[in-house]
Amino acid sequence: MSRQPRILVTNDDGYFSDGIAALTRELATIGDVVVVAPATEQSATAHSLTLTRPLRVRQIDDRRYTVDGTPTDCVTLALTKILPEYPDIVVSGINHGANLGDDVTYSGTVAGALEAAVFKIPGIAVSLVARDGDFTHAAKYAARLTAQVLRQGMPTGTVLNVNVPVGEIRGACLTHQGVKIAELRIQDGIDPRGKSYYWIGEQIVRWKEDPGCDFEAVARGMVSITPLRIDMTDYGYLAKLRSMGETLPGVEDNA
Ligand SMILES: [Mg+2]
Repeated sequence: MSRQPRILVTNDDGYFSDGIAALTRELATIGDVVVVAPATEQSATAHSLTLTRPLRVRQIDDRRYTVDGTPTDCVTLALTKILPEYPDIVVSGINHGANLGDDVTYSGTVAGALEAAVFKIPGIAVSLVARDGDFTHAAKYAARLTAQVLRQGMPTGTVLNVNVPVGEIRGACLTHQGVKIAELRIQDGIDPRGKSYYWIGEQIVRWKEDPGCDFEAVARGMVSITPLRIDMTDYGYLAKLRSMGETLPGVEDNA
């Protein structure tokens, strides 16, 4: 690529978070970066699109915009309304906290990258395995990885989910999505108007022993890199269902 690569940055912690600032600084050393990020925190909004109200875009300068919506709203508006042409890659993060195992399905950070995949653009989601901490090493690693993906490309419809331990990078592992064993912490109480409420809080997370999974890699202090697909079809079970004959209501021809 002779010209500077064009990089779109988003996140789910909001435009003012430390993670996106560190990521933007480092990516600016390898390409032409535009930030389109949520105006407020959107963690755990997953791949949601706002349909029930209008969205407002606020331009900070010629490289930075906020949207009062989700990461998916940000990428959608960036690609359709804000940017003059598609970027070469979308990088989402750096999230304040891990996105491992089942949590990828809740993650707004991962969804920012997945929305790029919907538009057939490579996407990378980057998370620091701590709520707060020094993002320097994670941001430098994210820039190295982004440069490499720009050089070698990635299959259409695939994103990389990257989780980086705090501190200097000791190495990286190619991993698969692990399985979380969560102890839910749900607080209940009475609001100031006398009505009861439940508030879903932080979880105590353990994981199923599973060599090669994302949890195991970060537990060993390594960066985990898990390729995810926007196509969520379970092809193994689809083939099994087809081979089993009439197993589901209304299914006549399984060939
Ligand atoms: Mg977040």
